[in-house]
Amino acid sequence: MKMDGEIMQAGGDTIFGQIIRGEIKTDFLHEDDQCVAFDDIEPQAPVHFLVVPKKPVPRLSDAQDSDEKLMGHLMLVARAVAKQKGLSDGFRLIVNDGPEGGQEVMHIHVHVMGGRQLTWPPG
Ligand code: C5P
Repeated sequence: MKMDGEIMQAGGDTIFGQIIRGEIKTDFLHEDDQCVAFDDIEPQAPVHFLVVPKKPVPRLSDAQDSDEKLMGHLMLVARAVAKQKGLSDGFRLIVNDGPEGGQEVMHIHVHVMGGRQLTWPPG
């Protein structure tokens, strides 16, 4: 797998790496050469899925300028899967970054939530 001249590694040393490599059986809502999407194991809304790049970028703070296309791709996959899930009245994307951002799994991922009225601000 190549992107922008880089060899993309499948996964990384986190639970999401294991999911991407198929070491933990997971039903993917979407898979392509750059990312996967799957339902969150502890959903915080009627619809709550994650879009995770195969390249193991630990957190948004670690993303490089060369990851620009990949980051944009995650948003468009989020949009496509949200549509597939019937979220025609709207949904929310969240990327937690680092300790104060509440990030637990150090492999960048986009949360997509919907299916209920979401409130603001989040906790
Ligand atoms: O953004 P943060 O790192 O906190 O989010 C990690 C998310 O990954 C959590 O919502 C958690 O429920 C989810 N998760 C999962 N499957 C796992 C481990 C964590 O969906 N096996």
